[in-house]
Amino acid sequence: MTVTIRCADFGNNCPAQFTAPDPDELMQHVELHTKTAHQPMEWTQELAEVAKTHVQQV
Ligand SMILES: [Zn+2]
Repeated sequence: MTVTIRCADFGNNCPAQFTAPDPDELMQHVELHTKTAHQPMEWTQELAEVAKTHVQQV
Protein backbone atom coordinates (compact mmCIF):
# COMPACT_ATOMS: atom_id res chain seq x y z
CA MET A 1 0.00 0.00 0.00
CA THR A 2 1.19 3.48 -0.82
CA VAL A 3 -0.41 6.62 0.52
CA THR A 4 0.20 10.20 -0.49
CA ILE A 5 -0.72 13.69 0.62
CA ARG A 6 0.08 17.20 -0.50
CA CYS A 7 0.85 19.92 1.99
CA ALA A 8 -1.52 22.19 0.04
CA ASP A 9 -4.36 19.77 0.79
CA PHE A 10 -4.53 20.92 4.38
CA GLY A 11 -4.23 24.64 3.98
CA ASN A 12 -0.65 25.53 3.17
CA ASN A 13 0.54 27.37 0.10
CA CYS A 14 3.31 24.84 -0.36
CA PRO A 15 4.31 22.45 -3.16
CA ALA A 16 5.51 19.68 -0.85
CA GLN A 17 4.11 16.21 -1.43
CA PHE A 18 4.69 13.11 0.66
CA THR A 19 4.45 9.43 -0.05
CA ALA A 20 4.77 6.58 2.43
CA PRO A 21 3.89 2.90 2.75
CA ASP A 22 1.22 3.53 5.39
CA PRO A 23 -0.78 6.41 6.87
CA ASP A 24 1.06 6.44 10.20
CA GLU A 25 4.43 6.92 8.55
CA LEU A 26 2.92 9.49 6.21
CA MET A 27 1.68 11.51 9.17
CA GLN A 28 5.15 11.43 10.71
CA HIS A 29 6.58 12.96 7.54
CA VAL A 30 3.88 15.60 7.47
CA GLU A 31 4.35 16.39 11.15
CA LEU A 32 8.10 16.82 10.75
CA HIS A 33 7.63 18.93 7.62
CA THR A 34 5.06 21.16 9.29
CA LYS A 35 7.30 21.70 12.32
CA THR A 36 10.35 22.55 10.20
CA ALA A 37 8.88 24.32 7.16
CA HIS A 38 5.84 26.06 8.58
CA GLN A 39 6.89 27.59 11.86
CA PRO A 40 5.21 28.85 13.93
CA MET A 41 2.38 26.65 12.74
CA GLU A 42 1.82 23.93 15.31
CA TRP A 43 1.09 20.30 14.62
CA THR A 44 -2.05 19.70 16.64
CA GLN A 45 -4.33 16.71 16.97
CA GLU A 46 -6.95 18.75 15.15
CA LEU A 47 -4.64 19.42 12.22
CA ALA A 48 -3.64 15.77 12.14
CA GLU A 49 -7.30 14.80 11.83
CA VAL A 50 -7.81 17.28 8.99
CA ALA A 51 -4.68 16.05 7.23
CA LYS A 52 -5.79 12.43 7.56
CA THR A 53 -8.97 13.19 5.61
CA HIS A 54 -6.78 14.18 2.66
CA VAL A 55 -4.66 11.05 2.55
CA GLN A 56 -4.96 9.40 -0.87
CA GLN A 57 -4.26 5.76 -1.47
CA VAL A 58 -2.39 5.15 -4.71
ZN1 LIG B 1 4.49 22.43 3.43
